[in-house]
Amino acid sequence: MDASANEALRSEACRLNQALPKYQLVVMHSGNASVLDAESGRVFIKPSGMDYDQITPRDIVEVDLESGRPLPDQRRPSVDLPHHLYLYRHMPSVRSIIHTHSNHATAFAACLKPIPLCLTAIADEFGAEVPCTPYVDNEGDAIGRAILEHHNRAPAVLLGKHGVFAWGDSADAALKAAVMVEDTARTVYLAMQVGQPTVIPAAEAAKWHDRYWNRYGQVEDRAAVGDGHATPAKRVAA
Ligand SMILES: [Zn+2]
Repeated sequence: MDASANEALRSEACRLNQALPKYQLVVMHSGNASVLDAESGRVFIKPSGMDYDQITPRDIVEVDLESGRPLPDQRRPSVDLPHHLYLYRHMPSVRSIIHTHSNHATAFAACLKPIPLCLTAIADEFGAEVPCTPYVDNEGDAIGRAILEHHNRAPAVLLGKHGVFAWGDSADAALKAAVMVEDTARTVYLAMQVGQPTVIPAAEAAKWHDRYWNRYGQVEDRAAVGDGHATPAKRVAA
């Protein structure tokens, strides 16, 4: 990878991490984000314990995906690096991962409950409930394995008693998933104060999901932009 490509990836990872407080998904140092450059096999992740507004592209930690080791002369990576690496190694299409403890989604995780598919916004965005794993500790691959075991078609999982992992085929897609997990969790939480929200039948949910990913937005022909997840994801980052 040449210097300008490296700089672009560091900037993207920096921008993505700084979007987390901007969208009120984290406080202090409570979350982290990474991007993967599949060609070089390098992961770019938040440095451990640094304030989001202090991070510059140079502070982003570059890690070799295969060995799991940061390159020399860099800051210490986020303590959650092993979970990011595990997911990149086991979900080949993923290019960006975000971990947060965003409040409403984590309230569901605290109760080991999924975010039920009771809103068209959840059908649109995720096509399924956002599942919740049982509680696991942070030793070894326990978190990565739990996520892999329990995720469905939604690009996000609630980690029992812990928080949220969201991902996508780009930094923008991962950010959109993380934002929408929190936004829909908040609405469902409010709905639960009003009454008992019921689940949208699977066939209905599939219709919404298909429309959103294939016919929504300004792009006429989805094939023209490649992957079906490109357009809705771009809207959030704009
Ligand atoms: Zn955490």
